[in-house]
Amino acid sequence: EAKKKGRNQHVFFEIDMASRVESAYSLENELRTAVAQQQFFLVFQPQVGVQDGMIQGAEVLIRWRHPEKGIVPPFEFIPVLESSGLIQEVGHWLIREACRYIRIWQDLGLWHDEAWLSVNVSPNQFYNPLFVEDVLDALKESKLAPTCLELEITEGIVIRDTENTIKKLELLRSHGIRVAMDDFGTGYSSLSYLKRIPLDVLKIDQSFVRDINIDRTDKAIVEAILSMSKYLGLEVVAEGIETEEHYRFFKGTSCQRYQGYLYSPPVECERFEDMLRERVVA
Ligand code: C2E
Ligand code: MG
Ligand code: MG
Ligand code: MG
Repeated sequence: EAKKKGRNQHVFFEIDMASRVESAYSLENELRTAVAQQQFFLVFQPQVGVQDGMIQGAEVLIRWRHPEKGIVPPFEFIPVLESSGLIQEVGHWLIREACRYIRIWQDLGLWHDEAWLSVNVSPNQFYNPLFVEDVLDALKESKLAPTCLELEITEGIVIRDTENTIKKLELLRSHGIRVAMDDFGTGYSSLSYLKRIPLDVLKIDQSFVRDINIDRTDKAIVEAILSMSKYLGLEVVAEGIETEEHYRFFKGTSCQRYQGYLYSPPVECERFEDMLRERVVA
């Protein structure tokens, strides 16, 4: 009986593996079609000044409008874009698309000079030798100052090749492009690398924010990040501000900006433009 069961499990295992391999393969094919047919689009989540409540910029987040499945969230396809190499083409498009929107909003008078869009960069995109050039080209094509863009990198990028990362970030920042460390505290954060990595912004991961008013450890970690950032001259962005209680906590700190469902979830461009208009009128 046990033997029979064991064999069945073995068969199930094989079927499971085969279907997983097949589904990864077909996802990759679907993504090739998505690239060719431009099924990706951007949504925007405002970043707001903690003290003045004004929209200071926005984070750009990618979405996939799948012909049958509807809107697919990034965690379901970014890893496959990375492993298949498609991230190069999509990343190239993403930066251009972000610049295109800034150009439109500047021309409409909705976007002041100090505002920026913050774009997530994935490891294989960052490590492309032409990455910096590509970003600078995108800015030029839309006639934008480099200060219009902020790039969000992750600790995973830093770990992979720290020296190379430092060189690239120095180059980007020498042009005036700002760099943010995303999801800070969730990776292999070592306090010593913060001293060496040229950064402008730390984004406190939402996992530390969720229970900030209940969990003393989370509170201690966030306070440590905030006071360390002050000494290092880094701006701090709090992610995942969902409630008034979350907001009240950060209002009493040196944290400069926040983003989260409390102010707005990521929204499509029309809705974001409305938000910018309301602000201009107000
Ligand atoms: P991330 O860069 O840390 O983005 C923040 C994520 O938190 C977004 O999920 C956003 O929708 C979500 N979020 C915003 N406010 C709240 C809140 O108040 N509460 C909670 N629980 N969540 C909130 P999203 O859009 O699903 O993106 C997930 C991740 O996928 C991103 O994390 C980023 O790592 C990656 N990603 C998204 N767009 C891109 C992209 O264009 N390029 C690359 N390379 N990665 C991207
Ligand atoms: Mg991000
Ligand atoms: Mg994040
Ligand atoms: Mg994340």
